[in-house]
Amino acid sequence: MSATLKPLLPGSTLGVLGGGQLGRMWAHEAQRMGYNTAVLDPDAHSPAGLVSHHHIHTDYLDVAGLKQLAAACQAVTTEFENVPADALAQLAATLPVSPAASAVAVAQDRAREKAHFVACGVPVAPHSVIDTAEQLAVLLADTAKADHLLPGILKTSRMGYDGKGQLRVTTRDELNAGWAKLGQVPCVLEKMLPLASECSVIVARGRDGAMVNLPVQRNLHRDGILAVTEVFAGNVPEALASQAITAAKAVAQELNYVGVLCVEFFVLADNSLVVNEIAPRPHNSGHYSQDACDVSQFELQVRTMADLPLTQPRQHSPAVMLNLLGDLWFANGSTQTEPAWAQVLALPGTHLHLYGKREARKGRKMGHLNITAATPEAARQVALQAAAILGIAAF
Ligand code: ATP
Ligand code: MG
Repeated sequence: MSATLKPLLPGSTLGVLGGGQLGRMWAHEAQRMGYNTAVLDPDAHSPAGLVSHHHIHTDYLDVAGLKQLAAACQAVTTEFENVPADALAQLAATLPVSPAASAVAVAQDRAREKAHFVACGVPVAPHSVIDTAEQLAVLLADTAKADHLLPGILKTSRMGYDGKGQLRVTTRDELNAGWAKLGQVPCVLEKMLPLASECSVIVARGRDGAMVNLPVQRNLHRDGILAVTEVFAGNVPEALASQAITAAKAVAQELNYVGVLCVEFFVLADNSLVVNEIAPRPHNSGHYSQDACDVSQFELQVRTMADLPLTQPRQHSPAVMLNLLGDLWFANGSTQTEPAWAQVLALPGTHLHLYGKREARKGRKMGHLNITAATPEAARQVALQAAAILGIAAF
């Protein structure tokens, strides 16, 4: 199949819309493989812009900026899901864009995303779409349906991330007030589910339909933000893992997706699986692949956009990833202090990744620490030691 694709070879220039940490790690990987990179991001100090051959700092919908990007490179990808789908569509007129604007548009809208999961036959949380005041009124009047969905989480359909744009509501009155508080924008009310755990799967799909996946990642969130990812054989029951991989591949396949896609799942108390959401790009929960797999999620992104062959990645080491949030820079009070990196790096199998953000803020993703070891127990033990040094709560 892949013989029909004509790859963009090293020496070509690859572009990315968005200059955050995901773009930065993608640029590092593309450059390692001999590609030049171009980043479009309005911020002159964006993490990816700082390390890229070309940095175009204009707004995402700036026509001149998009033209400049198109002229500089031979293929384009995106690194954040709220990139205007229209910018991708404009670029697609002149060069290959992956993922396509149509797929990103589904991921950008919780209501469309849920409809897609249902169409794929993948279980979703009970929910109701609230686009208008009329729809809210109808739901509030249908007491049986509303009560079935409560307590629930009211989520804006668009622009949410890291738990932002979400409210927990327990009564119909709170639902009513919550919708006003979120600005009466289109929302989805989701039933609050009893989560036993959370996991995610990263798949990469080529233009020829070839698909590979990373192993199932077990994720711990704190305050709506990913805190810890653990990946090793047995971290998720075998049956659940294969179910998650099959579901993730179906979601990508049915979108005719090209690129790297992360599918997030909830595991319920009865060990059943519910799909939460998708991210049309590499994902925080896939960062361990940089040090624990022979092909990382960022290399997969490079390969899909350059039409290079996809080979099934192999995890060679059990891994734990700790997210390094800005909070850690304030462990000793109100002045920003660099965490004790030397102490952490004295532990075997620790791999530090920092994103070059100068200002630490609470909740801001500053970097991550990958821990690899010969056994899951050893990886966990070192990760707990590193967490204790850094001031991250034990897990
Ligand atoms: P991100 O894009 O950063 O992953 P987000 O803002 O899109 O986050 P969600 O993934 O929808 O938010 O939710 C964040 C977290 O909140 C989930 O990982 C889960 O821990 C919890 N959560 C969300 N929906 C539910 C639900 N229906 N029942 C129980 N917990 C939930
Ligand atoms: Mg999420």
